[in-house]
Amino acid sequence: MDATPSPAVTPPPAAAGEDHRVTPLMEQYIEIKAANPDCLLFYRMGDFYELFFGDAEVASRALGIVLTKRGKHRGQDIPMCGVPIERADEYLHRLIALGHRVAVCEQLEDPAEARKRGGKSIVRRDVVRLVTPGTLTEDSLLDARRNNYLVAIARAKPSADGESRYALAFLDISTGEFRLAECDRTGLPAELARLEPGEIIVSDALYGDGEVAPLLRRLPVTPLGRDVFDGATAERRLAAYFAVATTDAFGTLSRLELTAAAACVTYVERTQIGKRPPLSPPTREAAGTTLAIDAATRANLELMRTQSGERRGSLVAAIDRTVTVAGARLLSQRLAAPLTDPETIARRLDAVALIAGDALLRADVRERLAAAPDLARALARLVLGRGGPRDLAAIRDGLEAAAGLQARLAEVPATAEVSEAMAALACPDPAIAAELATALADELPLLKRDGGFVRPGYDATLDETRALRDESRRVVAALQARYADDTQVKSLKIRHNNVLGYFVEVTAQHGERLMAPPLNATFIHRQTLAGQVRFTSTELGALEAKIASAADRALGLELEIFERLAARVVAATDDIKAAAQALAAMDVAAGLATLAVERSYVRPEVDASRDFVITGGRHPVVEQALVDDGAPFVANDCDLSPPRADAAGRISLITGPNMAGKSTYLRQNALIAVLAQMGSFVPAKTARIGVVDRLFSRVGAADDLARGRSTFMVEMVETAAILNQATARSLVILDEIGRGTATFDGLSIAWATIEHLHEQNRCRALFATHFHDLTALAAKLPRLFNATVRVKEWHDDVVFLHEVVPGAADRSYGIQVAKLAGLPAKVIERARLVLAELEAEDRKSPARRLVDDLPLFSAARAAPASPPPDPAAEAVMKALAALSPDEMSPRQAMDALYALKLLAKPQN
Ligand code: ADP
Ligand code: MG
Repeated sequence: MDATPSPAVTPPPAAAGEDHRVTPLMEQYIEIKAANPDCLLFYRMGDFYELFFGDAEVASRALGIVLTKRGKHRGQDIPMCGVPIERADEYLHRLIALGHRVAVCEQLEDPAEARKRGGKSIVRRDVVRLVTPGTLTEDSLLDARRNNYLVAIARAKPSADGESRYALAFLDISTGEFRLAECDRTGLPAELARLEPGEIIVSDALYGDGEVAPLLRRLPVTPLGRDVFDGATAERRLAAYFAVATTDAFGTLSRLELTAAAACVTYVERTQIGKRPPLSPPTREAAGTTLAIDAATRANLELMRTQSGERRGSLVAAIDRTVTVAGARLLSQRLAAPLTDPETIARRLDAVALIAGDALLRADVRERLAAAPDLARALARLVLGRGGPRDLAAIRDGLEAAAGLQARLAEVPATAEVSEAMAALACPDPAIAAELATALADELPLLKRDGGFVRPGYDATLDETRALRDESRRVVAALQARYADDTQVKSLKIRHNNVLGYFVEVTAQHGERLMAPPLNATFIHRQTLAGQVRFTSTELGALEAKIASAADRALGLELEIFERLAARVVAATDDIKAAAQALAAMDVAAGLATLAVERSYVRPEVDASRDFVITGGRHPVVEQALVDDGAPFVANDCDLSPPRADAAGRISLITGPNMAGKSTYLRQNALIAVLAQMGSFVPAKTARIGVVDRLFSRVGAADDLARGRSTFMVEMVETAAILNQATARSLVILDEIGRGTATFDGLSIAWATIEHLHEQNRCRALFATHFHDLTALAAKLPRLFNATVRVKEWHDDVVFLHEVVPGAADRSYGIQVAKLAGLPAKVIERARLVLAELEAEDRKSPARRLVDDLPLFSAARAAPASPPPDPAAEAVMKALAALSPDEMSPRQAMDALYALKLLAKPQN
């Protein structure tokens, strides 16, 4: 994020001999600003938030609003700009998106109260909240369908083996989710890629540390003082937040996890100025319980958004059939972090299967869910005192939907996940929803201060006060009629405005009469305008006071009722949160069931084996796009299972012309694994998958000029990550590796990569390539097999059948594809000639012989064209190979070094 830090806004120092007086207002402003130096200060003045000095300059530029001046400070103009409060959310949103932090400073008393303290007193103000990207609660500032995580990263000093450990605590204050995870440095980018944090907090020390600085530089990071990450006080701070004596009830958390968790809650308290949003106690995600997917793989597979950054066309968009925003958030969460435990996956699949198998149930469940608003976020706002009447209504509707859903689910034989959800749905006291239903009016204002949200008949005193208020209004109308009669002015009106309050208005021609005896005994002149004259009267004044006090009283009573209802909801926070989570879980299950039925997905079998057998697999996104266009998608099989139970998985090497469907095939198999492990049915006829622990995908050549790396460099960095990290449980997708450099370079790298995957990583892999020479490797590597995508040649043209079959492609058909693309006929003709020549040459090329000549990976190797072997070099190599540095003492290592020197000396 290109965060422009808010400038320090210490007002300019006074030049010699200048006026040193500072107004009380500026004095207050400067004090508050000094306490929040890293935030833009929204300083409340009446109906505006004003910004001053450097803040005003930054904000006016960022928001495109006018920069003005307001008085002088120490002899210099004070730059100022203002944001009207009713549009504050919109401006906040833009500033936050630009990476700013905002301190919201409110008036803490009525201006009238300040005046009571004396003429010079100014209204008390203070910051009530810091708005930062990771601590938002307003619907208008949040994406309803995504979580917004605040992530704290804590690091433990390297242990004896030199590896640092990291703990991540992450929470979404708008929904209350709070979790913990641990990882090492290599795992950190994948964790962050999964969470897509709105804001990351780290200690100043870690922020400046070379180990993580390059990673953090591209993310929305807020570095904080060491006290926030103090391990010694962590447990106490965490316990204090949850008002418990110890954190034992949260399970045994490591000191590192406690540190990260405490940093999160401390930051929440700081930004919410002491208020405590309703967080769940932190739960730990044990290492290895989720499928690790690094950032490059997520981007390549377009899980959450396409390469161009849109949701449309992504996997999540293709599979999302949820009907609530909470369900959509949970679906994204599950898709971002598929599981690795076959039992937990089966639990989720059971729920999907139950709902998929019963059309009536499915329709009923979804209908009830559709009526459920965003319970979690409404609840968070109510707890934080930011809620309005519509949040209470959301709780009412959500709880009613929960009760209805619970009753409907009770009619079917529940699965484990469904019964768990039912228990949570039944939790909240039904009296709360009932009370809200009787208390709230049909039409609700956004803000409680607008009043009118309590249903007539709910509260007798309120009804009386309202009657009085409305009655007085009728009395005004009667008074107007009487005055019109008394004065004989038919057009006399009693009106109201904010400056004069109630007043009598007549046209100018009648004005004189009202100002002369005897009428001037009743009417007191207030104002003469061009066309009208305005008056008041003692009677009208008294009436006005009565009306105002009745309206005030009515609003006061409504606000009291609001607080009482909100308190009742807040007291049931835990139960309501549990019900909200259950609603979301059922929405995900019902959504996936709907998808399965609609698109003919099947239940995958996920087990602890290392098998990978897909029959009739389809690409979930491409299929929908094609089918919507009326074109068929050709289903394909894939079997990467180990040849024997004790062996490693197989590698499929796929050749075929451009546009044949290689990339689609590769990705569809990766996506099927992701879907299966997140607990979804999959687009296939059958699927059996031995759980994958890490998924890697390097697809196509992505330009990454922003990060200053060439395409080829990126490709190699990502390939290196795969070769270093893939385990025998992993699934690796490599698409056209080595394309970014010269042919022989590229071929050599692709070659060595396949050997490494086969011999060292021993993982299941799919490898698409345009280097046909590589197909010869199948003869040498027993678990490598060739596959190709069928094409039909027809009159010199090529027809793509999109069918993956065993065997190797014999040609690239590049020229036919070029012809299809409309290259001029002359160019095509010429290309054919050149190709014929090259192919003749190629048959003599050394690459052809490599397969026979080159020993397998990891054995000593000699290039075909190398000079005759040097006996000294061979002796050195042999001695080197025999050394195992890990087991040597420094002394032994020195001796070995001398021995090697001796061997290397040319023998005469
Ligand atoms: P390659 O990687 O071999 O160049 P792609 O996978 O990019 O080919 O596929 C090219 C196009 O072919 C895709 O955009 C898609 O429209 C179509 N296609 C791919 N696979 C299939 C399939 N199995 N059935 C139908 N159309 C397909
Ligand atoms: Mg391709």
